[in-house]
Order: sequence, then structure tokens, then C-alpha cells
Amino acid sequence: MSGGGANYHFHDDASSDGRAPLAEHCDAAEAAGLTTVCVTNHVERMLPSGRWVVELEEAVERFSAEGGAAAREDAARPGLDVRLGAEFEYRPEWTDDLERLAERVPFDFVLGSVHVVEGLNVSGGPEVEEYFEDRNLEEAYAPYFDALEEMVAWGGFDAVAHFDLVKRYGHEHYGAYDPGQFEGRIRSVLGAMADAGVGIEVNASGLAQAPAAPYPSETVLAWALEEGVPFLTAGTDSHRPDDLATGLEEAVAVARRAGWSRLAILEDRSVVEERPLETDSASPAGGAEEVGGAR
Ligand SMILES: [Zn+2]
Ligand SMILES: [Zn+2]
Repeated sequence: MSGGGANYHFHDDASSDGRAPLAEHCDAAEAAGLTTVCVTNHVERMLPSGRWVVELEEAVERFSAEGGAAAREDAARPGLDVRLGAEFEYRPEWTDDLERLAERVPFDFVLGSVHVVEGLNVSGGPEVEEYFEDRNLEEAYAPYFDALEEMVAWGGFDAVAHFDLVKRYGHEHYGAYDPGQFEGRIRSVLGAMADAGVGIEVNASGLAQAPAAPYPSETVLAWALEEGVPFLTAGTDSHRPDDLATGLEEAVAVARRAGWSRLAILEDRSVVEERPLETDSASPAGGAEEVGGAR
């Protein structure tokens, strides 16, 4: 498969925003011809009060159960490897609990995400308007990239999820986003990722949203290679089985155009395989190349 055949970012119903049990997502993955999936549920949950919390014991229990479900699906499906991941949302007050969670649950892969900037959720919900309404382009985007760099300095994860998610609603307020306006800041984050051994994801969800491009788009993916970011993962960030593979091939094609030739597969928080991405529709002849752990 030219797209690498792997989805390393989706959510099932053990995630506060996901729908349908893991088995239904795996059915969809098999139907789409994928060979590896990694379920990456959110750690935080929303309380009835509307407040988001990370509760360590609850999370250990929930992700341990998810690991059991992933192992059962993996054992039951000869053509599909099912891995256990998580999406860690970076907030300074949560990092201790996230680190303890990662010590207690044998994750294959952990994404690091910024959704909240200066106390407001910029990726969805009622705070989006509040965040964007009184800011100009610089005031909206720069603090997001600063938060991303702060998260990379923390470093308790394997790859940065949806690198420029701020453009989802930024697009509606300021029009199409030109990464060139923030090149210095973006390259600084990418350089820090390279130094820390942190990978980047190409996230397909932006293709169906206002930006009509993955997070991040081709320019930033090319800069990531130039700055030495060590590996690339791909994910749909889907929440329903129907969307499990939506946009995945297209997102990976954008990464290919940016110069990426390999898609990383992680287990036990290390890159265990780098699948060649073909530049045409011919399927890879030799299959995967094995590499040592990247971190
Ligand atoms: Zn996210
Ligand atoms: Zn997600």
C-alpha cells in the first residue's frame, strides 16, 4: 500500500469524545486495507461541571482495560496489528500525572497535543470564539507555537500531534494560513523536536475541516525534514469507525511530496519499523525495513 497502511491516531468510546468500541474501528481498518492501527484515546475527561480533569487512578484503569482490548483484537486478527497509544494533552498542571500514567501503562506510542492556549481551548467548543475574537493573526498563532515549544521542552511523549491545529479556526478568522509568516518560530519548535528525538505526525483531519489541508501541511512537513525531525507517523484523528481511514492516503501523499519517504511504526514507545512510501501506485516489493529503537 502506497500510504504505509497504518493509522496511529484515532479515538474509540473509551475516549470522552469517541464513538463505538475498538472492535468496530478495527473492522473499519481491515475493510480499508490497513495493516497496523494504534488507538490513541485522550487521558482527560470532562466532569458534569464541564471541567476537564486528569485523574491518575481512573486513567490507569481505563488504559489498562484498553490495552487488554487491543491485545484481544490483535490476537484475533491475522492481518491487523493493534497497538495501544494515548493522546497526552500538554498542560503544566497535568504533566506529573501523565508521566506516572506512562510508567504504569505499557503504551506503544504517545502523542503530545496542545489544544489549550492561555487557558482557552482553541480546537473546539465555546472557548474558541473567546480566544480569537480580540486577537490579530500574530496574537492568535504565536502563543500556540510557544505552547508547542514548551510541550517539546517537557518531552513526555513520542510525537507531536496536529502540529498547527490553531489553523483550524484561525482559518475562519484570518483566512488561509501561510506558515512562512511564522517560519522562525516553527523551525525553532521543529529543531527542538529533532534535539529531543520527537517525531511529527501528519494528521488527516484538517483535510475535511476549514483548512482543507492536513495538520501540518506540505511546507511545514518539508521544514521538519530539514530540521532533522527523526520520524513521521500518520493518523486520521477519527472518532467514528466510518472515518477510520478518511483522508489517510491523501495526508500521507502530502508528506511524500514534502520529501518524507518512510512512515514510522512504533511499539513499546520506539520506532520498530519504517515503511517505504512509494511515489507511485506500485506496491512496495520488499516490504518493511527493520530499524533499531529511535528513542
Ligand atoms: Zn488532539
Ligand atoms: Zn485526537
